[in-house]
Amino acid sequence: MYICPVCGYNQLEEEPYKFFDDNIFNASFEICSCCGFQFGFDDDNIASQHKQKITLKEAHKIYFDNWEKNGYKIFSKIKFGDRILTDYLPLKILEIQKENIMINNDDYNQFIF
Ligand SMILES: [Zn+2]
Repeated sequence: MYICPVCGYNQLEEEPYKFFDDNIFNASFEICSCCGFQFGFDDDNIASQHKQKITLKEAHKIYFDNWEKNGYKIFSKIKFGDRILTDYLPLKILEIQKENIMINNDDYNQFIF
């Protein structure tokens, strides 16, 4: 299982990105069950709305901020089983997930083209 770099959900089935040298990476195209971010789609989409090049980390932050504005709505509740009874991620769980995010991972400073 892998961690979502956007929301910290730790049950991704695939590694969200595989990094190579010089701003080259492959995305899994998996959709995070928690925040709904699709690797390789939402990052590209966010980058295309910006005139300047942005990094993966910046794209993730933009998505997270929007998700936050919408109250942390869970994309696919089924994956959470009985743990969560509302449509929105409880802050207590969000705080735990946030600790999973490796914010100092340099790979995420790569630019999206
Ligand atoms: Zn996520």
